[in-house]
Amino acid sequence: MEKNNISSLDEFYFYIGEKRSRLDILVTKIKNSLEKERAASTLTIEEVLKKKEEKKKEGKNDFGIVIDGINNTLIRFAKCCTPLPGDEIGGFVTKLTGITVHRKDCPNFHAMIEKDPSREILVKWDENLIETKMNKYNFTFTVVLNDRPNILMEIVSLIANHKINITSLNSYEVKKDGDRVVKVKISIEIKAKTEYDYLINNILKLKDVISVER
Ligand SMILES: [Zn+2]
Repeated sequence: MEKNNISSLDEFYFYIGEKRSRLDILVTKIKNSLEKERAASTLTIEEVLKKKEEKKKEGKNDFGIVIDGINNTLIRFAKCCTPLPGDEIGGFVTKLTGITVHRKDCPNFHAMIEKDPSREILVKWDENLIETKMNKYNFTFTVVLNDRPNILMEIVSLIANHKINITSLNSYEVKKDGDRVVKVKISIEIKAKTEYDYLINNILKLKDVISVER
């Protein structure tokens, strides 16, 4: 009791009373927040379905792409140009696969919409999703270089330093303007064009790297 500087029994009871009321407030607070949590987690099936439906109405999907007025659409990224968030994109409607998303500057895309303009569809990146950087995209690029010992190791460790996952890598020799050069085809998982640009900038700084092709 001395520790708390309480000198009389009255004061002691007062002190206990004070403590109690503070404790009561705390308990009420915890109770309230628990109830709130419970309310959030016990959505009825109808509510969950409604939420899903609302999401669908916005035309959103896991690819991070928004298409006005279209629900449940099959979307895939064109292999010819593998668009990344940040690239300008366009969609092409195909009978079998749904919508294929290309980069706006993809020559294939241009050829296709020239042939059948009615199949072009407006698509755009879902900015919210891009900002949270939840999505990862498989992306392949090619590094052209003069062969020398360790160059591959340097590229791989550079990519690893950027905390980017490599999913495949293969290299082959080609002739370029009479010289033998090596092309290294690298597939990575990446979140956005900005991330790619940053990485490529650093790869180009490596000795004996000639160019990088998307
Ligand atoms: Zn394309």
